[in-house]
Amino acid sequence: MSNKQDKNCIFCKIIKKEIPSDVILENKDFIAILDINPVNKGHILILIKDHCKNLTDFPEDKGKELIIFAKKISSAIVKATNADGFNFSMNNEAPAGQMIFHAHFHLIPRFKEDGLRHWPHKKYLDGEKEQLADKIKKIMEK
Ligand code: 5GP
Ligand code: ZN
Repeated sequence: MSNKQDKNCIFCKIIKKEIPSDVILENKDFIAILDINPVNKGHILILIKDHCKNLTDFPEDKGKELIIFAKKISSAIVKATNADGFNFSMNNEAPAGQMIFHAHFHLIPRFKEDGLRHWPHKKYLDGEKEQLADKIKKIMEK
C-alpha cells in the first residue's frame, strides 16, 4: 500500500485491513466505516488514508474530495436510517474529544427524539466578543 502509515495507529491498521471493520465506501484517499460504539446507529467515521493527526495537518488539496465523499454517504445514511438530520464533525485534540489521533470525521444520523443534548451556549462580557474577533483576525494576518 502506498499510503502514509503509522504502524502503531489503530486507524492505519483498519485502513490496511489488519483490523476488521464494516466498510461503507472506499476510494484511494478515504475510507468510511461504521463506528464500533455509535452515538446513534448508522454513525460513520470517514478516515483519510494518509496518516495525519487532525485538521492541523490535514492536506488542503483533499478538501473537495472529502466533501463529495461525505455528501454521498450522508444522503445514504439518512435514507437507510430514516434520520431527520445528521451531524458532520471532527474532534481536534483530547479536550475536544479526540481519542484517536488519526484524522477522521464523524457522520452521525440524528432523530427528532434521540435524546441527545446539543452544546450549551455561553455569554460574552461587554466588549469581549469584539476584542476576541480582533485578536483572531490579527493572528491570521501574520
Ligand atoms: P474521536 O473521539 O477520536 O473523534 O473518535 C474516535 C471514534 O472511533 C469513536 O467514536 C470510537 O467509538 C471509534 N472507534 C474506536 N476504536 C474503533 C475500532 O476499532 N473500530 C471502529 N469501527 N471504530 C472505533
Ligand atoms: Zn493512522
